[in-house]
Amino acid sequence: MINKKELEYDVIILGGGPAGFSAGIYSARGSLKTAILDINMTGGQPSNYLEIENYPGFSLIGGYELMEKFEQHADKFGVEKFPMVEIEKINLSCDKKEIETNDCIFKSKIVILATGAQPKKLNIKGEEEYKGRGVSYCAVCDGAFYKDKTVAVVGGGNSAVEEAIYLTKFAQKVYIIHRRDTLRADKIIQERAMNNPKIEFIFNSIPIEIQGTNSVESIIVQNTSTKQDTKIQTNGVFPYIGITPNTEMFNGQIKQNPQGFVETDENMQTSLKGVYAIGDVRNTPLRQVITAASDGAIAACSAVRYLDSIPAVTV
Ligand code: NAP
Repeated sequence: MINKKELEYDVIILGGGPAGFSAGIYSARGSLKTAILDINMTGGQPSNYLEIENYPGFSLIGGYELMEKFEQHADKFGVEKFPMVEIEKINLSCDKKEIETNDCIFKSKIVILATGAQPKKLNIKGEEEYKGRGVSYCAVCDGAFYKDKTVAVVGGGNSAVEEAIYLTKFAQKVYIIHRRDTLRADKIIQERAMNNPKIEFIFNSIPIEIQGTNSVESIIVQNTSTKQDTKIQTNGVFPYIGITPNTEMFNGQIKQNPQGFVETDENMQTSLKGVYAIGDVRNTPLRQVITAASDGAIAACSAVRYLDSIPAVTV
């Protein structure tokens, strides 16, 4: 058995996206020794967004560029970063919270959960088989492979419609397959899609199978009222049907809603003392970079107040 290095912090933040970095900035600036752990590279989901045009102060900025700015800001205040960690165990229930990775044991009085969310799967035949061979959950990463080809985006929310618009930069045709006849996306985004000649909507339809040989060649959709199946020729399928929270590391330790999102109070406090949840992993009515950043600020300030109120807690 290897002896793992023990590292102690005032605040440990799980997840280096906008919520995590914002919490880090406020926490470190409040003189708390702060670390951010991420099982991936830091930057979170927005790093994959081509453009962000609703973060105040920036009328248009690349997602990666904005996250770089968050990270540099956190660096300035001395937040320590541990990207690509392999987390083996998390114990949140005691005063000394512990996060065990493959080579370290992190201990802290405060843990802020900022683990975000990931795309939901369609769970239909062919989805897993053609993943990476036509099925993609990231238009920014894979869009360029579809120059002059046809792609199908599934979903009617902001992600689906925005990514469909993005895909028209490459593809000659983009279908948006949506299960209802009205989109959930913001009106401004809907209008852009409606006015884009490369986009064709297939409403009242759910995908039931993805077919192909070496790569995706078609998607079968079923009309929700007539139950009739239609085969649509496409080279790519991009499911954007919502998100599911990244909570598997700590499931069962804190109160979560039926969809798994973490319940918090207005101070971002979870059902466990000293444990906060922020950003997309939280049960929140709006998932944006600005709300994630705002959650982070609230959680870090709440943590500072909590630590001031319990001077007896030692790590
Ligand atoms: P979302 O808003 O939850 O939309 C999911 C879409 O997928 C809905 O249209 C839903 O249909 C459909 N859907 C769900 N399950 C399905 C299934 N099994 N089969 C077929 N269709 C299914 O998810 P999102 O677009 O990923 O956005 C997630 C969050 O991030 C939202 O809060 C969103 O506002 C935010 N976001 C914001 C921006 C922005 O402001 N620029 C950009 C991206 C994301 P129904 O409509 O019938 O439920």
